[in-house]
Amino acid sequence: MTNRIAVAVETPQHTGVGVLDYLADQAWPPGTLLRVPLGRREVPGIVWHRGGDTELADDALRPAGPALEALPPLGEAWRRLVEFAAAYYQRGVGELALAVLPPELRKLDDVQLARRVAKLAKLAPPPAAEPPPRPEPSAEQQAALAALAEGTAPALLHGVTGSGKTEVYLRAAEQALDAGRQVLVLVPEINLTPQLEARFAARFPGRRLVSLHSALTPAQRLKNWLQAHLGTADLVLGTRLAVFASLPRLGLVVVDEEHDPSFKQQEGARYSARDLAVWRAHDAGVPVLLGSATPSLETWQRVQEGRYRRLALDARIGGGAMPRVRVFDMSRLPRQRGVDGPPLAPPVLDALKQRLERGEQSLLLLNRRGYAPVLHCGECGWKSGCPHCSAWRVFHKGDRTLRCHHCGFTERVPRACPDCGNQDIAPIGRGTEKLAEQLAELLPEARVARIDADSTRGAGALEQQLGAVHAGEVDVLVGTQMVAKGHDFRRITLVVAVNPDSALFASDFRAPERLFALLMQAAGRAGRDAEQAARSEMWIQTWNPQHALFDALKRHDYAAFAASQLDERRSAGLPPFSHLALLRAEAKSAEVATAFLDEAATLAEGVETIGLYPAVPPAVSRVADVERVQMLVESTSRPALQRFLAGWLPQLHALRPHHKGLIRWAVDVDPLAI
Ligand code: ADP
Ligand code: ZN
Ligand code: ZN
Repeated sequence: MTNRIAVAVETPQHTGVGVLDYLADQAWPPGTLLRVPLGRREVPGIVWHRGGDTELADDALRPAGPALEALPPLGEAWRRLVEFAAAYYQRGVGELALAVLPPELRKLDDVQLARRVAKLAKLAPPPAAEPPPRPEPSAEQQAALAALAEGTAPALLHGVTGSGKTEVYLRAAEQALDAGRQVLVLVPEINLTPQLEARFAARFPGRRLVSLHSALTPAQRLKNWLQAHLGTADLVLGTRLAVFASLPRLGLVVVDEEHDPSFKQQEGARYSARDLAVWRAHDAGVPVLLGSATPSLETWQRVQEGRYRRLALDARIGGGAMPRVRVFDMSRLPRQRGVDGPPLAPPVLDALKQRLERGEQSLLLLNRRGYAPVLHCGECGWKSGCPHCSAWRVFHKGDRTLRCHHCGFTERVPRACPDCGNQDIAPIGRGTEKLAEQLAELLPEARVARIDADSTRGAGALEQQLGAVHAGEVDVLVGTQMVAKGHDFRRITLVVAVNPDSALFASDFRAPERLFALLMQAAGRAGRDAEQAARSEMWIQTWNPQHALFDALKRHDYAAFAASQLDERRSAGLPPFSHLALLRAEAKSAEVATAFLDEAATLAEGVETIGLYPAVPPAVSRVADVERVQMLVESTSRPALQRFLAGWLPQLHALRPHHKGLIRWAVDVDPLAI
């Protein structure tokens, strides 16, 4: 046992860097998976490098356990990616490395794994059918592809739905595949993978394509991951976790809908798969394509600075224009008692009726599921609060429950007010369930369907409901943002944003950016061919018709919207003009959480390169009986923020034992939701 190896193990960062020295009877190459003793347990580890890190004498080191020899070592590029991500997002190397590998890997011994690997190696490649005829690229697509071939600076492929972005991905992929390379395609949501998978599979019949996302069974995920790692898969398509796929022949990275918040992991290592994709492509010296109609302002600013290239697809394929956007001023309606007015303003309802008469489809967007966001007693003022959260419980009429959307606490809806016994408790406000119900009453002849997280719980439910829309079995589709994304509804000529206002005044500075993206995306559902475009409209029902956001939307002018937002961000010193990290603390009481953050703040006193905001509760401060408080750290320099965090976090770990009652704390680098 004379070989010293440094092994990444799953210890959180505060117990060291997560790389420990062991002795091995063989000189395992870096990237080898093995088992090592840690305390009294045996844990999985990855040989990170040879030679060890410490000055400890050999007899102070423990011997490493058996290695998974059947698995080719994880490559250097993969280890660099993990090392960068761990450092950047302030996690342990081993913690991150083992968290992003398929969990099944740690359950198998070498013999079992050898069997799987042998089986995969024997898999025949898909039959090399004749590739289907491909459309001739348009002039814009040709220009984009030519520019892409010219360099490896990240490229923003900027075009609305239907402008031919996917076709550019396919062509770029073809070039990489022909050069013997692998292609990684990231999409924001699992729901969107089957569609894209089908298109790639159809285009490249002789190539092996695998998907990687969290809805796979552990066995499937291992199988797909192995094919990527062994190099037998040519195309890897997946959600954010796929950015960590081991790809020995990587030649192209595509991030579709790059602005989508789902690319940011919201627990553990809170990485941005989009940002890591850019880093990874740069590190590998391969091109990265970021596709969007409404790029994130971070990406857009990099285009302005000349660091990213913008490849524009300004026209829709088939000549379809974006629908005409019309804004209805809700203050023109007579004031209703309470808030329970009709769901649609008269001209909007007329527009809907026209679609019905013509046999066209309409999409009504309402970003609030359930029947009503709160129940209320007019006698005593009781409201359906959640006993465990600082939030209302939502009334779901379908199963007559009150449900908390934060902690899941669910009860049958009471027959009478729990406080005063009043029989007449009433829903306030409107969710998708109620909207669908009201529409069915208003338009008895219309076939109304609802698609949201509630209606699509069961396996295959979403596909089935989307299928009904495609088959023309639905006239009016009511849905949350779920339906605004990606789905190609050919017969929709009317999109209505029923109540988009709350996002205009949300405390999160990114709320307008998100609303604009959502509305542009929803607008993109309509008018995808020229004949239809002439009849396509989007209606916005708002109390703030003068808002600049709607003005830009009317003109489909992303650049104007982005410029005005960037101006605001610049003068407020917000991203992308500054860099943020969010320190969150959770405790049984807000005092404990705040005390921890306050002491953390004193540790940062005197650091000139960073600024600290006061500790404040987030919009929903208590969830499942846990109080949450957060504190923003800001710097104009990313490296300065990184240096500060690297020094600060170990101090915070040391601080923790002094704060009894603190349940957990975490740092979120480049937080998306604030
Ligand atoms: P996006 O990804 O921007 O929504 P797609 O690439 O899906 O756009 O293109 C929209 C539609 O136009 C698809 O049906 C696609 O097959 C078709 N298409 C794309 N490029 C061309 C082209 N150059 N010629 C003809 N049809 C095209
Ligand atoms: Zn009451
Ligand atoms: Zn709750």
